[in-house]
Amino acid sequence: MPIYEYQCTKCGERFSVRQSMGQDGSKLNCPKCQEGNPKRLVSSFFGGGSGSSQISGSSCVGST
Ligand SMILES: [Zn+2]
Repeated sequence: MPIYEYQCTKCGERFSVRQSMGQDGSKLNCPKCQEGNPKRLVSSFFGGGSGSSQISGSSCVGST
């Protein structure tokens, strides 16, 4: 399950939330000031998704 990072738009508090795919963070509240609708930050760990595949080339070369 990926972990997303959010930033409160009110106090600027950053916090990470573990969510399943497809969930949105609009129902989250800032743990500090309880402000809702935090801004989702782009995580460098999981960044992107589909698009550029790094895994290519030497893998599973049939040797029979
Ligand atoms: Zn806040």
